Amino acid sequence: MSETDLSVPFRRRAGSALGDKHLQEALTIATTKFIGLRRDAFDEFPEGERLRDLAREIKEATLQHLHRYVEQLIDSVERLGGHVHYATTPEEARRVVLDIAARTGARMAVKSKSMASEEIHLNEALEAAGVIPIETDLGEYIIQLAHERPSHIIAPAIHKTKGQVADLFAKELKRQVAADPEELTRIARVELRQKFLEADLGITGANFAVADTGTVVLVTNEGNGRMVTSLPRVHVAVMGVEKVVPSMTDLMVFLQILAKSATGQKLSVYTTLVRGPRRPGELEGPDEFHLVLLDNGRIRQIAGPLREALYCLRCGACLNVCPVYRQIGGHAYGYTYPGPIGILLTAMLEGPGSVKDLAHASSLCGACADACPVRIDIPKMLVELRREIHEARIAPWTERLAYGLMEKVLASPSLYRWSKPLARLLQRPFARDGRIRSVPLAFTEWTRTRDLPALAPQTFHEQWPTLK
Ligand code: SF4
Repeated sequence: MSETDLSVPFRRRAGSALGDKHLQEALTIATTKFIGLRRDAFDEFPEGERLRDLAREIKEATLQHLHRYVEQLIDSVERLGGHVHYATTPEEARRVVLDIAARTGARMAVKSKSMASEEIHLNEALEAAGVIPIETDLGEYIIQLAHERPSHIIAPAIHKTKGQVADLFAKELKRQVAADPEELTRIARVELRQKFLEADLGITGANFAVADTGTVVLVTNEGNGRMVTSLPRVHVAVMGVEKVVPSMTDLMVFLQILAKSATGQKLSVYTTLVRGPRRPGELEGPDEFHLVLLDNGRIRQIAGPLREALYCLRCGACLNVCPVYRQIGGHAYGYTYPGPIGILLTAMLEGPGSVKDLAHASSLCGACADACPVRIDIPKMLVELRREIHEARIAPWTERLAYGLMEKVLASPSLYRWSKPLARLLQRPFARDGRIRSVPLAFTEWTRTRDLPALAPQTFHEQWPTLK
């Protein structure tokens, strides 16, 4: 069974992840490391909290006038000699990239890490059109070799141990490879260097795009982003439309908190600022630059219940601290974006029906909101999503029945009073030592992995009149 196979129920996908020793080892090591690095970075940065508030305010103010900033961005990019394409759906976005590839005669595309390109399943489309996509971020390169999908927003191969990566390289190169990260990186670098020189097309995402200057910003640690944006003849950047920021001053706020939240670095190793194609007299840069602005359900959510999810910087901090993600990893979620923010993004992109199980894959502990650099209230939106799923009658009938009854009882004092003796009677065959450990029929699942406290012989309400 594949953990990303959506025909398999979420519970089984999660169960399989829990039973995978390698996955558990890799997740524990990596997420614990990220949590510590992030904590230390903010401990040493007293302005951090204020900048988080400021970043949130900028995101909100930008969303309020997004149409204006997008128009400004388009003007700015075009003034620099670039081309902007607006894609409402993944199909449209793929079509734009494939048309550019066909017109320019591209046979090979080098890519830097881009969740937007994962979202539109660009690699599969390129392959089908006869263009070979080569992932050049080390983590993406690893999972491309393994024919897998990313399991983390910033660390796509987080689910693999170094031993597994060494085995993968050994199989590919048909020789022994040491499970040493430096050696593995050196091998990947040698393999990729030639590809950078051969590729006709460079495809990237974008962490931000600055409206008033037309600057597309990439934040990377490996330098591959610079090679992808400067060596091929054509550069295409695919970006969610909400990534626009008004000015360079605003950009500086985000850059100061992004790397700290993601990897605990003061700043990522490379911050690449792309301003259109190569100009006369410049030694490097592409002949053509294209920016693809991807909507795919985002614009609709500006006025929707998931609006705050549009603040997301894709730093991955909420995944690292999430007690569910830390146990099951990213693949069990089944979609492009994993973790707590991934549930919201999936609901945004695929509709609430797609997350009827995932919406419950959260303890609502609030760790994600605490870690988020722009303080997105993920738990609140997950509760809202659960309500929407309930109201849309997408949830299983047992769940709807239970919640529906509970809603009626809790909303009516007289019903609440009468329901207590009835509930005590009904629980009698199942309550032992103050706990209910299993209930029959369609409700069995509720007690399969948890027990419930039995109703007390007297509620606080009933005791109250006799208390002094
Ligand atoms: S929701 Fe917040 S913590 Fe999670 S990836 Fe987005 S910005 Fe980072």
